[in-house]
Amino acid sequence: MGKATGFMEYARVENPYRDAKNRLADFDDLHAVQPVEARRCQAARCMNCGVPFCQSDFGCPLHNLIPEWNELLYRGQEQAALERLLQTAPFPEFTGHVCPALCEKACNLADDGVTNRDNELYLIETGFAKGWIQPRVPAARTGKTVAVAGSGPSGLACADWLNQQGHSVTVIERADRPGGLLMYGIPNMKLPKEIIERRVRLMEAEGIAFRLNTEASPDDLKAFDAVVLCGGARKARSLNVNHMDAQGIHFAVDYLTEATKALLSGRDPAISAAGKHVVVVGGGDTGNDCVGTALRQGCASVTQLEMMPAAPEKRTSANPWPEWPRTLRTDYGQLEAIAVQGCDPRVYETTVKAIHPDAEGSITALTTVRLAKNPEGRLVPAEGTEQRLSCELLLIAAGFIGCEEKTLKSFSLQTDARGRLLPENGSHHLGGNLFSAGDMRTGQSLVVRALADGRAAAREVNEWLRGRQA
Ligand SMILES: Cc1cc2nc3c(=O)[nH]c(=O)nc-3n(C[C@H](O)[C@H](O)[C@H](O)COP(=O)(O)OP(=O)(O)OC[C@H]3O[C@@H](n4cnc5c(N)ncnc54)[C@H](O)[C@@H]3O)c2cc1C
Ligand code: SF4
Repeated sequence: MGKATGFMEYARVENPYRDAKNRLADFDDLHAVQPVEARRCQAARCMNCGVPFCQSDFGCPLHNLIPEWNELLYRGQEQAALERLLQTAPFPEFTGHVCPALCEKACNLADDGVTNRDNELYLIETGFAKGWIQPRVPAARTGKTVAVAGSGPSGLACADWLNQQGHSVTVIERADRPGGLLMYGIPNMKLPKEIIERRVRLMEAEGIAFRLNTEASPDDLKAFDAVVLCGGARKARSLNVNHMDAQGIHFAVDYLTEATKALLSGRDPAISAAGKHVVVVGGGDTGNDCVGTALRQGCASVTQLEMMPAAPEKRTSANPWPEWPRTLRTDYGQLEAIAVQGCDPRVYETTVKAIHPDAEGSITALTTVRLAKNPEGRLVPAEGTEQRLSCELLLIAAGFIGCEEKTLKSFSLQTDARGRLLPENGSHHLGGNLFSAGDMRTGQSLVVRALADGRAAAREVNEWLRGRQA
C-alpha cells in the first residue's frame, strides 16, 4: 500500500475544467492539468484493496492494474508505473481524456473514488515528454498479413497487438484521417486531435501501414491472411416526423465531423450553429458534445430535448455500488450552456412532434410535445402540451442502431437482431478469414470497451493464424 492514511488525508481532486466562459472562446482541451505533487497525493489515496473492484468486471474493461501503478506513482517511480499501466492499456492518452472512468465508480472509496483517469493521463504524458515512449518494432515477422478495416479505437488496438506479435498489419480507413470517432465524433476540446496523430505516427514507425480514403472490400479477403472488420456502429436513429429532409437538419456525427474537419483545416464549417437557435434531440453524451460545439460556434441559443425523465441525483437501491451509477450528470457542454444561458439546456420527457420549414425548405421552428406514461407504462405524447420552439439547426443525437448497411452488403453479412456482427458463440470469428471487433460487434459503446474488444479480437486472430501455420 502506498500511503496507509492517504485516503483520509487527501480529498479527491480532479483535473479542473478551465473556466466555462473562457474555454468557449476556443476548441482547446477542456482541462487544466495539475502539478506532479498534486498527482502523487491523488495516487496516495489508493487503498490497495484486497479485492480491487476498480480492475474487476465492474470497473475497468481493460483490467488495468490500477492499485499497482497508483502505488508506484505515489512513490515517484513514474517510469515503472507507466510500464505497469502499459501492460494492459494500449493507449492511455485516449482513455485518460475520454474514459467515463468506470473504475472510479467501482472504487472502494465509492463517490470519492481515486482519480485513476487523470493519473493515467499524467503517466502517459510524462512518458511522451521524457522520451520513454519509443517505437517498439517487432524483432521478427511471421510472414502473415492482416487487414484491419476501420481505425477507431478497436481497430487501432487490434492492429497494435497483432503488429506486436510480428504479423504485418495494414489499417484500411475510409475517412481522410485515422481515429474513427476519436477523430471525427468526439470534439477537439474533449480529445485534442494531435494526440491521435502522435499515436498513429508511432504505430507507423512500428511498422503498421495506414491506407486512408479507402473502403474495405471483399477483395481484401483474398489479399490478406485475415481481415478484421472494426467499422463501428454508425447507423444513427432518426426521428419519425415529416420534413426530415428540410435544410438545417443533421445527424450529430455529421455535424461534429464537419466541425472538426473545419477546425483542422482552418476554414469555416459548412454546417454551422453561428447565430442560430439550435435544438439537439438526445440528452446523452453525443448530444452534450453537440451543445458544447454549438456554443463554441456562437449559436443564439441551444436546447437539448430528452425523451426520458431526469435521472435521480443519488443511486437508487436498484443500482448499488459497485455498479455504474445511473444518476444525473451535468457534463461540460451543459455546464457551459448554464454559464451562458443561465439555465440547463436539457428539457426532459419531451420530443419533436412537427418540423416547420420556410418556403425555401429551411427549418425555422419545431413543435415539441411532452411525453407521459400510458397505463401500459409506455411513453406517449400528452395532448395539449405542444409548444413552438424556434430552431434553425436541428441536430439528431438519438443514439445508434447498429453497423452500416454498406459494409454488410459488400461483405454479404447479416447482423443479429440488435444490428451487431456478433457470432452466436460470442467469438470474434465471422467465418473464413473474417473477424469483427469493437462497436460493430458489441453495439455502440465506449472507447475503453472498444479497445478491450479490439485486443480480444487480435488474440483470437493470432491464435487462428498460428493454428493455420502449424
Ligand atoms: C459524438 C460521440 C462522442 C463520444 N464520446 C465518447 C466519450 O467521451 N467516451 C467514450 O468512452 N466513448 C465515447 N463515444 C463512443 C466511442 O467513440 C465509440 O464507442 C468508439 O469510438 C467505438 O470504436 P470503434 O473502433 O468500434 O468504431 P469507430 O470509432 O466508430 O470507428 C470505426 C471506423 O471504421 C471506419 N469504417 C467503417 N466502415 C468502413 C469500411 N467499410 N472500410 C473502411 N473503413 C470503414 C469508419 O470511417 C471509422 O473511422 C462517443 C461516441 C460519439 C458518437
Ligand atoms: S481505462 Fe477507464 S476504466 Fe480503465 S483505468 Fe483508465 S479510466 Fe479507469
